[in-house]
Amino acid sequence: MSAIADNLQAVRARMARAVAAAGRPAESVRLLAVSKTMPLAHVIEAADAGQDAFGENYAQEGIAKAGATAGRGLEWHFIGPLQSNKSRPVAEAFDWVHTVDRLKIAERLSAQRPAARPPLQVCVQVNVSGEASKSGCPPEEALALCQAVAALPGLCLRGLMAIPEASDDPAAQRAPFSRLREIYDQIRAAGLPLDTLSMGMSHDLEAAIAEGATIVRVGTAIFGERNYA
Ligand SMILES: *Cc1c(COP(=O)(O)O)cnc(C)c1O
Repeated sequence: MSAIADNLQAVRARMARAVAAAGRPAESVRLLAVSKTMPLAHVIEAADAGQDAFGENYAQEGIAKAGATAGRGLEWHFIGPLQSNKSRPVAEAFDWVHTVDRLKIAERLSAQRPAARPPLQVCVQVNVSGEASKSGCPPEEALALCQAVAALPGLCLRGLMAIPEASDDPAAQRAPFSRLREIYDQIRAAGLPLDTLSMGMSHDLEAAIAEGATIVRVGTAIFGERNYA
């Protein structure tokens, strides 16, 4: 078995233990393999090992990998910061966007989504770390943004996403995930049919699953350390 296949199996085992510890159904959390900066060959190794959903932070890099693996049935999720002047390729080529944090971006993605493709699946990114983070909408604006996004024809609102500040302390890891879960519950109570909480990465996926994550976004634990050089 390749190193990547081994790593995938280890991550899936961590997820299964966390799901069981939380008393949640076995299939209730999906693994998004974050392949940013990794070569195409590594994506193919992961796909050969059964991984079907990949996350990318840079539009052109993701589009190239999606094009090179077309026909394999892989799903491509955009998880990077979005600038409005760069939204078109994302709207055209990806299946999901996790980082919608303002209405202007949502409107552009909706207008730019090709009519021949299903609506773009989106999560609203919420800033649950306060001052520590620049991206994500403020928690008190999440409901209004979700209501506006839900009304856009080119988008299908699925849920919420957050990237909390990294911490090694399990209790400190859980607090922002718990906060995102509360906001999610409030928005569902207001009548929006959300089904996705995108939270948890290599170092804190257990804490995220304990707090209700339905998608964990894992890079390093699958593909190894990234080299940005
Ligand atoms: C890079 C990245 C990840 C993966 O992080 P790891 O710590 O390598 O698992 C997850 N989510 C987002 C938004 C990222 O940018």
